[in-house]
Amino acid sequence: MNISIGHFQLEIDVAKTRGFYQTQPYASQKCDCASCRNYAKAVAILPATVKNLFASLGVDIHQQAEAMIPYRLEDGQLMYSAFYHLVGEIISCVKPHESANIADDVSVWFSAECDLVPEGFPPPIVQMFVDAKLPWLLDEECTY
Ligand SMILES: [Zn+2]
Repeated sequence: MNISIGHFQLEIDVAKTRGFYQTQPYASQKCDCASCRNYAKAVAILPATVKNLFASLGVDIHQQAEAMIPYRLEDGQLMYSAFYHLVGEIISCVKPHESANIADDVSVWFSAECDLVPEGFPPPIVQMFVDAKLPWLLDEECTY
């Protein structure tokens, strides 16, 4: 399926992408750290536009390859950087590494250079980076 997100033109095999994610456990089952547990709660309340985009790409938002907190914002929210993999290719992008907003405080960009690809992920692979401002939703104190 040909899809454009911001200045990125992508060719994504949605069925293969979705099929792979359906065989995998949630990231929260693989890592129990506070950052991952909070991410799982926070992405669950992201706006429908974000969830719909993930769904249309066949990507399970709860199955990030990695989620990090580069910094905490002055308002107490957290800047999260996460990435996911998709089966497909970048057809064109006007400004590589420049992200495209998909909602308030949520942006994505794509790269053919991939890290931490899950075993058995079908090629060709494109990596989707997600930068999102998310709240802290755990009862425990935020140490980030
Ligand atoms: Zn973790």
